Amino acid sequence: MATTVLLLGSTISSATPATNTSPIHLDPIQISANSWYFEGAPGLASADNKGFMSNSGFVITDTGVVVYDALATPALAQAMLDAIARLTAVPVTHVIVSHYHADHIYGLQVFKDAGATIIAKRSGLTYIGSEHAQQRLEQRRESLSPWVNDKTRLIDADIWLDFQTGPRHRLQLGGTTIDIIDGGFSHSPDDILLSIPSESVLFAGDIFSSGRLPFLVDGNTEAWLQSMEAIANLDAAVIVPGHGRASTNPTNDIQLNTHYIRFLRQQMAVAAEELRSFNDAYEATDWSEFRDVALFDAANRRNAYHVFLEMQQALFE
Ligand SMILES: [Zn+2]
Repeated sequence: MATTVLLLGSTISSATPATNTSPIHLDPIQISANSWYFEGAPGLASADNKGFMSNSGFVITDTGVVVYDALATPALAQAMLDAIARLTAVPVTHVIVSHYHADHIYGLQVFKDAGATIIAKRSGLTYIGSEHAQQRLEQRRESLSPWVNDKTRLIDADIWLDFQTGPRHRLQLGGTTIDIIDGGFSHSPDDILLSIPSESVLFAGDIFSSGRLPFLVDGNTEAWLQSMEAIANLDAAVIVPGHGRASTNPTNDIQLNTHYIRFLRQQMAVAAEELRSFNDAYEATDWSEFRDVALFDAANRRNAYHVFLEMQQALFE
């Protein structure tokens, strides 16, 4: 379906400095008749950007609003709820968690308190119970103070999905079909995508990058390529990534993501097979076709190293 999409910049503002947790104002960006997203600032989470550096989104149906991701702090989640309430009187009934990473989940408690049903993949339960999750929260209580504080907590999903009967779990809400899709273990073990076919919109979380290189570290690039194929097959007119601008040209972006991951896997597989050192392999690789893509300097070397280790491991298995 061809859709004309007008992307207006999303803004963040509040009247007072970040020394307290006074309300934040967020403006969503409309991407289809009934779907919007919030676009976080570029870069890492900081007290300056109030943790607003990841995306979230929502679709309004006749009987409920379905939210994808809760952002990085309770204050941001409250700002989402406020923004949604300016558009519709219909309540938020469901929140889908793209994956359990700090920049997407600390707003969940606000939606939970507002009565929404939280839906995530069961592997998120392992994360919530881990020491790593507690350490990460402690880190954020320091680095994102006062936005993440002692009252910020990890939230269990109300529904943990196993995807045992297939990669898709379907919600019917007020006449709108909403597909919750298993993202495999691509970016994280808990990857979930949200597709709204009637809107031709896909929320893809951190599996998908738009106009820039993905961060592959901690991911599984073999599964990632499969997810990219699944994303292509959904044929959405707009794909919202976990960070950065929504893609209104998904074909190009899917091609860039796929081609880049394949290139890394090919180059690093040869290097691992020839028992070369990572440094030698990295220096010998011609990166020219990716050098001008955004985030090359920030991501490429670490991505290459991660894939090098994956390829080494594959060799010894
Ligand atoms: Zn992530």
